[in-house]
Amino acid sequence: MRKVGIRRRESRPTCPSCNSNRVVKNGSSRGKAKYKCKACGRTFYDALKHRMDREQRKRILKEYLNRMSMRAISRVEGKPLNTA
Ligand SMILES: [Zn+2]
Repeated sequence: MRKVGIRRRESRPTCPSCNSNRVVKNGSSRGKAKYKCKACGRTFYDALKHRMDREQRKRILKEYLNRMSMRAISRVEGKPLNTA
């Protein structure tokens, strides 16, 4: 039996030239996926997704660090002072 339609997280981009989704993966370069449009023959990189991912990761990291420092502050303040 052949598995059909089970393609998770693999959304192919559309061609920036003709907006067709008839694109095929054509290797990769510098961590970017390279695609070729079958309709107009243009090759392009799927760079937008990577940029969004990086930005999102940066925001999450910032939020995480923020929460960490918040927790550290509250821990310090909530600690009873034993120096007596
Ligand atoms: Zn195209």
